[in-house]
This record gives sequence, structure tokens and C-alpha cells, in this order.
Amino acid sequence: MIPVENAFEIVLSHTPCLASEEIDFQDARGRVLVEDVRSDIDLPPFPRSTVDGFALRAEEICRQPVRLKVLGTIPAGTSSSLRVEPGTAAQIMTGAPVPEGADAVQMVEKTRMNGAEVEILEPLSAGANVVARGSEVKKGDRVLKKGTRMDSASVAVAATVGQIRLRVGSRPRVAVIATGDELVPPDEKPGPGQIRNSNGFSLLAQARGVGAEVTYLGVARDNEESLTQRIEEGLTYNAVLISGGVSMGRLDLVEDVLKALHVNLLIESVAVKPGKPLVFGTGKDENIVFGLPGNPVSTLVTFELFVRPALAKMEGSEQLQRVHLTATLCGPLASRGPRRAFLPGWVEAGKEDGLLLAHPIATRGSGDVVAFSKANALLILPEELDRLEAGRSVRVYPLDGFYFKEDRWHAGQRS
Ligand code: AMP
Ligand code: MG
Repeated sequence: MIPVENAFEIVLSHTPCLASEEIDFQDARGRVLVEDVRSDIDLPPFPRSTVDGFALRAEEICRQPVRLKVLGTIPAGTSSSLRVEPGTAAQIMTGAPVPEGADAVQMVEKTRMNGAEVEILEPLSAGANVVARGSEVKKGDRVLKKGTRMDSASVAVAATVGQIRLRVGSRPRVAVIATGDELVPPDEKPGPGQIRNSNGFSLLAQARGVGAEVTYLGVARDNEESLTQRIEEGLTYNAVLISGGVSMGRLDLVEDVLKALHVNLLIESVAVKPGKPLVFGTGKDENIVFGLPGNPVSTLVTFELFVRPALAKMEGSEQLQRVHLTATLCGPLASRGPRRAFLPGWVEAGKEDGLLLAHPIATRGSGDVVAFSKANALLILPEELDRLEAGRSVRVYPLDGFYFKEDRWHAGQRS
């Protein structure tokens, strides 16, 4: 049994980065840049007025009241040949270039038109309401960094600097295999001793959620022939995710089959709860294999902790782990033994101060996927602790639901 950090390090150091491809910037949200993006122009490209008003010389309006002759109007999108001399001003619109001679813009609300003249009602200092050319970005500056996953703001940046083709990491091709003689499909009623296969589908959903191209290879039965057939096919993908069959039982044959298929097994057990029997190895073709423990909560959690970062690395991402947060515990957290525990929790912002509060969720263990589905975060109980009391700080791993789950599955509530 190896510590979580070692397992993480082994997984990442043996996970290859995939080839890259060039795509249209409009399709880039969620994709990972494998090259820096630089600006081909200064930003702003000209001194830009941030308000509607009058471009003028700040030194002239120290003493009030001041009247200036209006030379003309500069709308956005024009390039004016006007020159603001002493005693003059130019009417200007938001986003328009500030003309030669002017060094500030007084907003229209602080002026009064008077025939061909404008009365400036308040003084301002040089530079007011003007963004100098190149003060945001200089031509050639890096505006997006290699390894960044593109979000909507990054798409705006690519558009701003005219980078309409982007080089991004290819999306990993991921195969999913469920294992178990007891499994029936979700659209069947389980017979005696049977259960419905849920892991096959949670893994597909999770892998899709990280942008992978997923293929479902179905259920392998607990015998070497059936496992070999599916896993062999799985090894033609960049990553194979297998659920179940990695514990100590007589019919947990996944490891044996992986060895027989020349997978180099690098991890066979991790000090994590849930998820101890996690298996990881590398195939012959620059590909990786995960054998994830079959309990539905274990499968979900080990994907988050190990598979998500590995798939992100394949794409070239440099942000592999989700940011962890800190919250105040609202009830005790308990888990015995030397493993780091990741327990389901509901995290919310406190009503008064907005600081995070963490409610542990009552659960019957790693088979209790319904209780787990109420969680929007994993609450982390370190290896050296068996218990953490209410009022203490707890480290929190936000799940997808952290951003969109409604507050209806509160701790303790069963429905
Ligand atoms: P295993 O790791 O194969 O020993 O499975 C551990 C537990 O998880 C057993 O109770 C299995 O029935 C259950 N399990 C295994 N695979 C799945 C699956 N695909 N969907 C739901 N439960 C499963
Ligand atoms: Mg099994």
C-alpha cells in the first residue's frame, strides 16, 4: 500500500502527453493549449477613451470655469486627423482614439455644451479616462500560456490578438470496461444476487466530462477469457478504465489478465479510502490502464483523484489537480486506519460571512452511491487522524456539483 502522493507521482510520471492538433479558436473552450499565444498588436492599439465626453488638455482646465472650442466629433471606429490645440477640445465617444494634443477626456456628464463651445465643470488630471496605447499588452507579449485550459475569457483573448487557429492537445481516447458476473444492464430488473451496472456509466460520464472521446466496451465476466477479450481491445485506446475485479477475491482476475497482456503494473494498492485496491499500469503503446475498485463510490472517487489528472496530463494541461479549499466542519468526520479518507460532504457559503461550511453526509459506505450523490465535495481526513471534530478546519475537494448542485441534499437528510 503506497501513500496517495506517491501514487499520484507514479501515475503522472508514466502518463504520456498526446500529440497535438490545430483547431479553430471558436471550438477551443475546454481544450488545452500546447503553445503560448502572443499578441500581434499593442493593446489597446491606440490611446482609447473609456468614456463619452470631450478630449482636452488637462493642464488647461485646472482653473474653473473653462470654455473650450469644440473642433469636431470622433466616433469609435474612426481615425481622426483632429489636433487639440490650447483652447480647444474634441467631442469623443467611448472606445474612440484620443486625438493628437489631448491627454485626458472629461465625461459628458461633467460638461455643458454652449453653442460651438463646451464648458468643463470639473478639473481632472492628465491621463484621466484614457488607456494609453500598449499599456495593457505590448506587441509580442504572451497573452495565453501553454498548458492553459481555454475558458470563455481565453476565447476572447484569442479573438483579440487575431489567433484564429490554436494548437491544442488531442483529446484522449478512453475505453471503459465494467467487470462482474453479478451485473445486469440498467434497463433490466436484477435477479437473485444480481445488481445493475452503474460504474460503466459513471465512468463514461466522468470521462466525457473531462473532454475525453469515450468508447464503452461493455461488461466483462469474471473469467480470464472474457476479461482478456475486452481488455485487449481496450489496450488499443490511449487509456483503459476497468471497474471491479481488483480486490483480493478468488474471482478478482483483472491484475492477472493485465500481466498476461504485458501491462507493466506500477500500482496495486493505495493508502486511500475509498479506493485501496487501485491498480495502475502502462501498456506497450504509450497507453495507460486503470483498474478501479468496483464499489460505485470507490470508482467515482478514484476517477477524481487519479484518472482526471492523468487524462488532463495527456491533453497537455499544467493544472492537473483541482484546487482544494478549506472549510469549517459542521459535524464530526471519522474514518479509522492509516489511509487518507475522502468523505462525501455538502459545502456551502455561510449565510452571514460567506465563509465555507462543510457538512459531512451520512453514508453506509462505498456502496452507498445514493448518499454519495448528495455530495458536492469530498472532505479530506488526513492519514494521521481518525477523527476531526466540528469547528475544526477541513480540506475540501470540490466535485462538479460544487458549482451547480442545488442545496436540496443537505447533510443528514435522506431525501
Ligand atoms: P469488486 O471490486 O469487483 O469486488 O466489486 C466490489 C463491489 O462493487 C461489489 O459489491 C460489486 O458488486 C460492486 N460492483 C462492481 N462492479 C460494479 C458496477 N459496474 N456497477 C455497480 N456495482 C459494481
Ligand atoms: Mg467483481
